[in-house]
Amino acid sequence: MSKGQPYQRIGDAFSLAVQHGDGPPTVQQWVNKRTGRRFFTRVPVQACHALPVASLAASLAVQRRTLTGLEPLTNLAARLVVEWQPDACVFRFISHSPSLEPDREWNRVQLTHAPTGRNAERLWLVCPRCGGRCGVVYASPWNAEGIEQAAALVGCRKCLGLTDVSRQRHKTLDWTCDVMGLSRGIPKPYRRRGDGTLRRAISVFDRRWARVFRKLGIGLD
Ligand SMILES: [Zn+2]
Repeated sequence: MSKGQPYQRIGDAFSLAVQHGDGPPTVQQWVNKRTGRRFFTRVPVQACHALPVASLAASLAVQRRTLTGLEPLTNLAARLVVEWQPDACVFRFISHSPSLEPDREWNRVQLTHAPTGRNAERLWLVCPRCGGRCGVVYASPWNAEGIEQAAALVGCRKCLGLTDVSRQRHKTLDWTCDVMGLSRGIPKPYRRRGDGTLRRAISVFDRRWARVFRKLGIGLD
């Protein structure tokens, strides 16, 4: 093996950003069992509690029913707010009023509406952090240092800097096998991949095996 610059362990870019306080408001903390290095990853949406606006639909139908028919969503969004307890997986609708004191155990999420383009209105949730409209509001139990807290952080996917489990597989050996069609149980061209993706997968695959051979003392040159 060639002797170049002395190796200096600096860690991955995301963990460095988290350590400097530039990370998202919620992260997960891990320790590499072999090296003892502490590192951070984004929280996957699957690890958070979610409040999708679609799940409120049945309950809203009851709230909207009036003597003459259904109340328009415009009125409903102005009249009601959702209160949510992520740990208990419960939500309730309460009447919106400016003097209403927020309940500490409940997270308040406002409702809004927007036209769908088919002469209809659609209900949305308002992110408590950015005020933008979103279809799902998430609650993460971890803070910016990856420590679990009693009060969950509530916000949209963007505000909390969440990720998806499938994204975290990118460039892992498992992912390369899928792309190269080597995974068992998955039909070979299960999904069309670009040439660039395939090339990247092959290079990740080669480097991974090269590392294994180097560790075993087998030179590849
Ligand atoms: Zn937001």
